[in-house]
Amino acid sequence: MRHKDGSWRVLESTANVIRNADGEADGLVVVNRDITDRKRAEEALAHNALYDGLTGLANRTLLLERLERALSICRRHSDFKFAVLFIDIDEFKVINDSLGHPTGDVLLVQIARRLTACLRRVDTISRTVQSESDGNTFGETTIARPGGDEFLVLVEELHNPSDAIRIAERIRGRLAPPFEMDGREIVVTCSIGIAFSGDASAEAQGMLRDAEIAMYRAKHTGKARCEVFDNTMHASALSRLQLETDLRKAVERHEFRVYYQPIVSLQNGHIVGLEALSRWQRPQGIVMPNDFIPLADETGILLSINRQLILDACKQLRAWQQLFATDPLLFLSINISPKQFAQENLATQMGQLLQECGMDPHCVNLEITETIAMSDVERSAAVLSQLKALGVGLDIDDFGTGYSSLSRLQGFPVDTLKIDRVFVSRMDSDHETHEIVRIIVMLAHNLGLKVIAEGVETQAQLDLLRRMDCEQAQGYLFSKAADPQTIEQLLAANRSGIVPPIRAEGAASV
Ligand code: C2E
Ligand code: CA
Ligand code: CA
Repeated sequence: MRHKDGSWRVLESTANVIRNADGEADGLVVVNRDITDRKRAEEALAHNALYDGLTGLANRTLLLERLERALSICRRHSDFKFAVLFIDIDEFKVINDSLGHPTGDVLLVQIARRLTACLRRVDTISRTVQSESDGNTFGETTIARPGGDEFLVLVEELHNPSDAIRIAERIRGRLAPPFEMDGREIVVTCSIGIAFSGDASAEAQGMLRDAEIAMYRAKHTGKARCEVFDNTMHASALSRLQLETDLRKAVERHEFRVYYQPIVSLQNGHIVGLEALSRWQRPQGIVMPNDFIPLADETGILLSINRQLILDACKQLRAWQQLFATDPLLFLSINISPKQFAQENLATQMGQLLQECGMDPHCVNLEITETIAMSDVERSAAVLSQLKALGVGLDIDDFGTGYSSLSRLQGFPVDTLKIDRVFVSRMDSDHETHEIVRIIVMLAHNLGLKVIAEGVETQAQLDLLRRMDCEQAQGYLFSKAADPQTIEQLLAANRSGIVPPIRAEGAASV
C-alpha cells in the first residue's frame, strides 16, 4: 500500500467474518499490520545468505547452487558443457600487509568489477555471428567470491576446454593493467585453475576441488598462469595431502632430527662452526629436507619443526662449546625459510628463542637465501637490521643462484656470503666458473664480507679456494651432515690433531 508520505509499505492482513443472528456474513474485520521493516530484514538476510557483502558477487553457496543446476542439465543433455574457474590473486597477502586491509578490500572490489565487465555476455545477436572458438561464445556466467582473495567463475554453454582457457586468458588480460590505489599503481597477477565438465558422475564440491587443485598447480609452476585440471593432478594432490598429514603427525611424534655439517677454516683446517640441517627420521628410513621442507614451509608446519630444531641445536652447541673450548667459540648456522622470513615478528621471536635456550646470539648465524633476500629488498633490509640488532650473524645462502648483483647486497647488514655448490663443483673443471668464483670472492672482500664455499668435494677445489683467500668451506671433502655422535667424534679428532685437520673422507653419515 502507498503511505500518505508517498512510500510503499508492505502490510500483513488478517480478515475475520462478522455474522448476523442468522449466521450470514455481514461484514469483515480486517486487521492490517505494517511489516515493511521485517520484510526488508528478511530480504537482506536472503541476500546475505547468497551474496558476498564486500563485492556484491555471488558467494560460495549460490555458486554451488548454480553448479548443481549446471550438472543436472549436463546429465540430461550430454552436449551441455561448462567450466569452473578458480582464480587466486598472486601475492595478495603482500598487498594487504603493506597497504593495509582497507586498501586490500578496495582492490578486491575493483577486481570484482573488472571480472564482471570482462565476463559480461556478448549480446545474443552478435554471439551467433562470432566464430565458434574465439572464446566469446558462452552462456550464463556466475561470478562468486567465496572469501579472501579467491574468485570462482562458472561459465555455461562452452564447446571444449580450450574455450575455458581462452576465457581464463581474457580474465588475466583484463586484470593486467595497473590498479590505481591511493595515488599509486598496483599491478596484480592471478593464477587460474580450470575444471571442465565431462564426467556425468561429477559432483559440485568435487569440481570446485579439482579447479582449486589446478589453481595450485598454476601457482607452483610459476604463477600468473592458468592450468586445466586432469586426473594425474588429483593423484599428486592426494599424495601431497598424505605428506601433509604425515608431517603433522611427525611433529607430534618428534620425528625430526638435527644433523650437523662442519664448516672448516681454510687457514688452519679447524672446524669453526656447524650448519644445522633437518632430517625426518621415519620408521621406513630417513627423509631428506628437499623432500619435505618445501611443503612443510608452505603449510606453516616448518615453523614448529624449526622451533624445535633451534632449541635442540642450541642445546647441543652449548654442550660442544663446553667440551671443546675453542677460541673463538664454535658457531651454529641455521636456515631461515621463505615463510619464516615473511613473519611479522621474526626478530622478536628469534630473540626470545635464543634467550630461552641460553644461547649467545653472537654464536649464531642465520642463513637467508639470496632469492628470499632479494624478493623485497626494502623489507629485507629492515628485517635483516632487526635481526642484526639481536647480535646474530647473517649469511646470504646459495649465493649466485638468484641472479642478483653483489652491489645490491650493499644495503644489507650481512656478514657472510655462501657461494652456492653449483659454482664450487664446476670451478676445477670449467675455467669460466673458476673466474666467476674468483670475482665473487674478491668483490665480497671489497664489501667487507667473509666467504664460505659450499659443496667442496675435491682437493683441487679446496686448493683453488685457498689461493683465492676464501675464509671457510663446507662439503663432502670434510664431512657430510651427520648425527651428533659422529660430529662429536669428528670435533674431538679435529681438535686434538689425531687426524689431519682436514679429512679427505666423510664419516658414516647422510
Ligand atoms: P643448504 O642450506 O644449501 O644446505 C646445504 C645442502 O648441501 C645440504 O643438503 C648439505 O647436505 C648439502 N651438501 C653439503 N656439502 C655438500 C657437498 O659437498 N656435495 C653435495 N652434493 N651436497 C652437499 P640437505 O641437508 O639435503 O639440505 C638441503 C636444503 O634444505 C638446505 O640447503 C636448506 O635450504 C634446506 N634445509 C635443510 N634443513 C633445514 C631446516 O632445518 N630449515 C630450513 N628452513 N631449511 C632447511
Ligand atoms: Ca644453508
Ligand atoms: Ca646453501
